[in-house]
Amino acid sequence: MSSSTRFFEQYNEVLISGVTIDSRKIEAGQLFIPFKGERTDGHEYVADAIKQGAAAAFWQKDVPNPPENLPLIFVDDSLTAIQTLAKSYLQQLKVKIVGITGSNGKTSTKDMTTSLLSLKYKVQKTEGNYNNHLGLPLTVLGLEENTDIAVLEMGMSSRGEIDFLSRLAEPDIAVITNIGESHMQDLGSREGIAEAKLEILNGLKEKGRFVYFGDEPLLSTRVKDRNLDMKTFGMDPANDLYPYEIKALENGSVFQINKAAEPFELPVLGNHNILNALAAMLVAEYFEIPYEEMNKGLQSLKLTNMRMELVEGQLGVKVINDAYNASPTSMLAAIDVLKKLPGYKQKIAVLGDMLELGDQEEAFHYEMGEHLEGVDYVLTYGKLGNFIAEGAKTVLPEDHVFSFQEKEPLIETLLPFLNKETVILVKASRGMKLEEIVKAIQ
Ligand code: ATP
Ligand code: MG
Repeated sequence: MSSSTRFFEQYNEVLISGVTIDSRKIEAGQLFIPFKGERTDGHEYVADAIKQGAAAAFWQKDVPNPPENLPLIFVDDSLTAIQTLAKSYLQQLKVKIVGITGSNGKTSTKDMTTSLLSLKYKVQKTEGNYNNHLGLPLTVLGLEENTDIAVLEMGMSSRGEIDFLSRLAEPDIAVITNIGESHMQDLGSREGIAEAKLEILNGLKEKGRFVYFGDEPLLSTRVKDRNLDMKTFGMDPANDLYPYEIKALENGSVFQINKAAEPFELPVLGNHNILNALAAMLVAEYFEIPYEEMNKGLQSLKLTNMRMELVEGQLGVKVINDAYNASPTSMLAAIDVLKKLPGYKQKIAVLGDMLELGDQEEAFHYEMGEHLEGVDYVLTYGKLGNFIAEGAKTVLPEDHVFSFQEKEPLIETLLPFLNKETVILVKASRGMKLEEIVKAIQ
């Protein structure tokens, strides 16, 4: 008798109310999915998970000694099984799908879209940054039956990944926020990145809509001849939706749009966030939310942590914490925010390495430095950070530019600048852990 027939004899029917991959967070009735990781093998926790109330668990056939008399579902591969399960679960639901990809701004746009759609619908979204081949199926399997719209972030690091996610989720509306330089190492060029993001169209439902950043020629030239329902957003008035009369505020901005009479207030910093908001508005428009009502949805917005967060530090200094991650596009956007922020006498940029940029990485960093004109002091951290400092010295007095390989002397150097009239931008790739600097100033 095979283990699986034993399972069916004992458990004629098992009702599963959700899935989890973390045995410590099991809720009664869930399906526990064990993964074989580098350090631990989830299969070791299967028995325990069921004791904690899991209704059943997967068991990969290549793992020996499955426990007897437990409700196990034998699978070839846990990841493939969870993806297949997600796909078939979606087909049973009536939920509409919003798929969001792009080099920068996916999570922010996802949060904004959710705020807007929640004005009228029951909406669920990708939690945090669960945007890959595992995170997306897990989000899907967490959808409740009465959810109207799911807003799903789709991330990638190489070709084919967005294709896979899009075909799995089959979005009703697909969004590309922008094309940057992240993953240049794997995709070779910005053209390659654009092609990879456009894979989101491969799973778009037949009558679905495509929303994209119209200021990016790499996108518009590639789709202009396609027979698709398309809407564009951007700074350029040639777009379907664009902003004007933008005013930077201390913690956000005010702007007009071409589709509404009243000005909009956005409680997060940066013109790049205005673009993210425009993308979200086009999604809300698709779901028939009037532009006049959208202001309400944006005012209550809260972005996921460490994305252009304005926090207060010692002695009243203000810190723009953008330590979440960095690429040239997003660093440029953050520097722009720093330069435009009203109400400060002194502006300081603390910038670290941007990783995974491929063989042009030194040039990317040097050019970033050249954009720092108008900032008062620049402190860099890391090996590539040195190149930012070199570039900065071409536009700033040399004694206003410092570079460091350790965080402590960098923090020491910052201390005399801490006062109410100073604002400090902190940004680098995730791996550089610059939030430690933010913590030290707080
Ligand atoms: P990830 O690939 O890590 O999931 P993401 O695409 O989800 O990133 P967000 O988390 O929304 O992006 O934002 C990350 C950072 O990128 C922000 O802190 C901000 O500095 C910058 N950013 C956000 N939106 C844009 C945009 N539209 N254009 C340029 N930079 C942006
Ligand atoms: Mg993200």
